[in-house]
Amino acid sequence: MDPKILILGPPGAGKGTQSERLATEFDVEHVTTGDALRNNKDRDIGHLDLEYDTPGEYMDRGELVPDAVVDAMVEEALSGADGFVLDGYPRNDDQAAALEGMTDLDVVLYLSVSEAELVDRLTGRRVCADCGANFHVAYSPPKADGVCDKCGGELTQREDDTEEVVRERLEVYHDDTEPVLERYAGHDGYVEVDGERAPDDVWQDVREAVRKNA
Ligand SMILES: [Zn+2]
Repeated sequence: MDPKILILGPPGAGKGTQSERLATEFDVEHVTTGDALRNNKDRDIGHLDLEYDTPGEYMDRGELVPDAVVDAMVEEALSGADGFVLDGYPRNDDQAAALEGMTDLDVVLYLSVSEAELVDRLTGRRVCADCGANFHVAYSPPKADGVCDKCGGELTQREDDTEEVVRERLEVYHDDTEPVLERYAGHDGYVEVDGERAPDDVWQDVREAVRKNA
């Protein structure tokens, strides 16, 4: 049986990086809320009796997709996967309750990282305005300040990565997602991993936790 893995942690904890490695190592699907929604944009959700009849109508209008829609799309994605690593869901306790009805998890990983470190990681990101390449002022700096190594384009900071917005994002995370952590803390297969290290070191513990529990 392929493992069913949930990965939790704040924005900037490295969930995406570790999830990709898990997907490769254990041959499971990397399921994210964003992909689940994009892959099912045009699916008929009329039975949910909401404002719109497809997820795409919310997304095209830039409106928040209701929990009931996100839940249904994640359930669809999980039902099609033998094993998976679920990343970016559940974001709140209602979604966590919905997830309990969908599947049994083998492993719940929590990447813990201090707030100060998260702020450093997130505010240090720079992206090339021309080719989209990613850099970080401390961890993967460009050869010349503010200039893309790949194409010579100008490096910019995304609005989402400014300190003010980062602090807001972390606040929302604390309010909405901490109840989710409490729910899973006593779960079989729950493992807290110190995420405040180099990705390769975090990976050793992440892989070990899945091997032991799956
Ligand atoms: Zn570039």
